[in-house]
Amino acid sequence: MANVTELFGSLVFDDKKMQERLPRITYKSLKKTVKNGEPLDISVANAVANAMKDWAVEMGCTHYTHWFQPMTGVTAEKHDSFIFPTEGGGIIMEFSGKELIKGEPDASSFPSGGIRATFEARGYTTWDPTSPAFIRDKTLYIPTAFCSYTGEVLDKKTPLLRSMERLSSVAVQMLHLLGKEDVTRVTTTVGPEQEYFLIDKTMYDKRPDLIYTGRTLFGAPAPKGQELEDHYFGSIKTRVSAFMNELDEELWKLGVFAKTKHNEVAPSQHELAPIFETSNIATDHNELTMEVMKKVAERHGLVCLLHEKPFAGVNGSGKHNNWSISTNTGENLLDPGKEPQNNLQFQIFLAAVVKAVHEYQDLLRLTVASAGNDHRLGANEAPPAIISMYLGDDLGALVDSIVNGTEYNGKDKSEMETKVNVLPDFQKDSSDRNRTSPFAFTGNKFEFRALGSSLNIACPNYMLNTMVAQELSEFYEELRNKSDLVQAAKALIKKTLTEHKNIIFNGDNYSDEWVAEAEKRGLCNYRSLPEAMPHYVDRKNIDLFEKNGILNEAEIRARYEIELEHYTKQIRIEALTMVDMAEKNITPAVISFVNELTDAALAKKTLSSSVSVYVETSLVEELSEKLEAFVKKTKELKDAVSGLASVEGALEKASYCREKIFALMGELRELGDAMEQKTSAKEWPYPSYGELLFGV
Ligand code: ADP
Ligand code: MG
Repeated sequence: MANVTELFGSLVFDDKKMQERLPRITYKSLKKTVKNGEPLDISVANAVANAMKDWAVEMGCTHYTHWFQPMTGVTAEKHDSFIFPTEGGGIIMEFSGKELIKGEPDASSFPSGGIRATFEARGYTTWDPTSPAFIRDKTLYIPTAFCSYTGEVLDKKTPLLRSMERLSSVAVQMLHLLGKEDVTRVTTTVGPEQEYFLIDKTMYDKRPDLIYTGRTLFGAPAPKGQELEDHYFGSIKTRVSAFMNELDEELWKLGVFAKTKHNEVAPSQHELAPIFETSNIATDHNELTMEVMKKVAERHGLVCLLHEKPFAGVNGSGKHNNWSISTNTGENLLDPGKEPQNNLQFQIFLAAVVKAVHEYQDLLRLTVASAGNDHRLGANEAPPAIISMYLGDDLGALVDSIVNGTEYNGKDKSEMETKVNVLPDFQKDSSDRNRTSPFAFTGNKFEFRALGSSLNIACPNYMLNTMVAQELSEFYEELRNKSDLVQAAKALIKKTLTEHKNIIFNGDNYSDEWVAEAEKRGLCNYRSLPEAMPHYVDRKNIDLFEKNGILNEAEIRARYEIELEHYTKQIRIEALTMVDMAEKNITPAVISFVNELTDAALAKKTLSSSVSVYVETSLVEELSEKLEAFVKKTKELKDAVSGLASVEGALEKASYCREKIFALMGELRELGDAMEQKTSAKEWPYPSYGELLFGV
């Protein structure tokens, strides 16, 4: 491996390269745009475009692409070459500021939730100068936002950028009120921990369910699962290690701070954690990370599965969204400091987050809802579908003391004695971890743990930023004209925490008692996407986005439709894949095994009438009975899928999928898996769970 410091960012048009290649004036005004959010001038864009192109061509690029994040859930790109015809019939390599700033992909083939009719197909991509351009496969990738001709937002990046601006402006206002005049900008930071599975490519290729849906739709449990707990943090296998090393290298070249890698709980499951960055870049980098993971896996004869629940019975994959807010003066606003009881500023921001999570728990829930993640939330492996907050002992005690008006006895950060002379003692963190909480305070940040592994993190983050911005702006209005600011702030914090402490829960989120307790507290418990999603368009939520200038009502309604439609399509594809596997492979395999057994029994009998055919006969009987039920259930599922066409309305369709189709899929699977356990492995058409999970 080349020197990592040289390797890092070598494929990124980063700050260093801009400084080297741009005229000083251009560089400075670009920096102002990136750092302070100031508008960008076309002359600057021209100079940047030219420098970018020169660098890209030197690096062997022939094309550029506006890279964007439409509502499909994956990124999109259309490649244009730099070539420009000259008079003599030759070409030059050209790239103008106009081309850098604006692209025009046809918007009609991207989901718009009915916002746009096909005849007004125009869509624009707009350069996002806050996220650096990079090179992949001889193409210059330019991160962009995506909107329609009439200005409606059609992507995930735009609301995220808007929410960051909005949170910055209200937080700065608040900080100025509190006397921090030197702060001019506040940014949100995110570190997403990414889980994934790696399986052997030859096995994968034999499973249509994995190919079409990313998860196994049939599959009896392997004799061994995750019960020995020997995989988590276990030593990494050679083949996986080779994959991980190449992945790190590729990501480092792209400027992604890949930091930590380890084996996860389930067999063949792993995790990668990067060092945090501003939300926008963290989002782009997480999308890139997922794409690069898939590509690198292929080079190692592996497939990287990012589905939330590829295998029944073993843990699925999620993503932890570590989130914080910091100032341009270098202060983390969620750091309680040594004396949180005297840190009014911290208490205000804490109270804003507590109130936000309580009032908009439905938004946090629905932003992580997906067909895949529905398998995890509430299944005692991921946080439950009930959103609550964990503050830990210290902050929990602080909140109690504020609410009850009692003395706060914060624990000192105590030294941990290892009681072994050669081992150094170290300082303990002030709070232990509660792995079951969906939204946990972890020292100087909040960790939103309910995300599914494949989710684009822009969505949870724009929701989080917007709801906290809303609370801060309300706090500001309340405090701005008060003569005794300190007294007023203390009263406001006390009132807020008293009214919203119901969202705080430090116990075991997996317990049945919590479900009952949460219900008493009036917290939401939406078990699936069709239950959660309707709250997207609740008046209070539409108001939230409109008031803060993030999305308008039409855009929210469009997103709501898109999410429901996407869900319906996914369940439909899964059901059709199951039917296909059942009819074309599983049923014939069982028939042929039954025939084999019958032939064997008959042959035995011709040899001698007294020979026992008990084993063959009982297996034939058992399998024939199961197969009959299986074939009938397949037909039922097929009919249910046909029935979808006559259901009207996006929500009704999604609910029908959940209640009818998804339920039948579970029943069909149970029958299929029972037959797998009784059928000869030679006849069974698909690699088993054992081969898939332990095959690398
Ligand atoms: P764990 O697995 O114990 O939760 P990791 O170290 O794997 O912890 O991940 C913690 C993540 O939190 C990392 O991505 C880290 O960069 C991120 N993080 C740390 N500080 C901040 C912060 N101020 N803002 C956002 N993310 C942060
Ligand atoms: Mg974590």
